[in-house]
Amino acid sequence: MTPGDFGHPALSFLNTVTDDGKTRARNSFARGDELLAELVACGLAPRGMQVPGAGQIAALMTLREAAYGVFSAMAAGRKPGREEALTLETAMKSALQDASFTFRGDGLSIAAGPLGGIYDRVALGLFDLMQRSDLDRIRECKRCTHIFLDHGRGRGRRWCSMARCGNRAKAATFRARQRAHIV
Ligand SMILES: [Zn+2]
Repeated sequence: MTPGDFGHPALSFLNTVTDDGKTRARNSFARGDELLAELVACGLAPRGMQVPGAGQIAALMTLREAAYGVFSAMAAGRKPGREEALTLETAMKSALQDASFTFRGDGLSIAAGPLGGIYDRVALGLFDLMQRSDLDRIRECKRCTHIFLDHGRGRGRRWCSMARCGNRAKAATFRARQRAHIV
């Protein structure tokens, strides 16, 4: 996973699935330490945090799928599901309750509080993403479920990345055309 590719650290968290299609059944990590490494790499967690156990991973996955549901709906111009929106709202409110606020010359800076664990940091990352002014640029890959901010010109970016989905989608279209030609 490359942090900058999707446009925000919280999107890198949403995109910790490796499925080719729309199933979201395969995680990009197998163990807690691998998940933590991905969160550190994208900037959602600092180094040296405790490796999440099974319960924490399960909670993070529930939050990830709820947040995916909400952002996927935004990308499609749909209203998000009630349950998914509520799960995300609850996680954000709880993380904000314990967060440290710093009022600076350029605005409010929100950071995880002293007791904030990985879950709170991820929820604050999602809150930060939700506050962005360019959310009309949220897109979902046409092939997989990766979500990204599209700042490309022209007709826009259709794939999470050319290497992962763009080239394979183009190859599939090419093969389909060839088959049609043979028949
Ligand atoms: Zn993709």
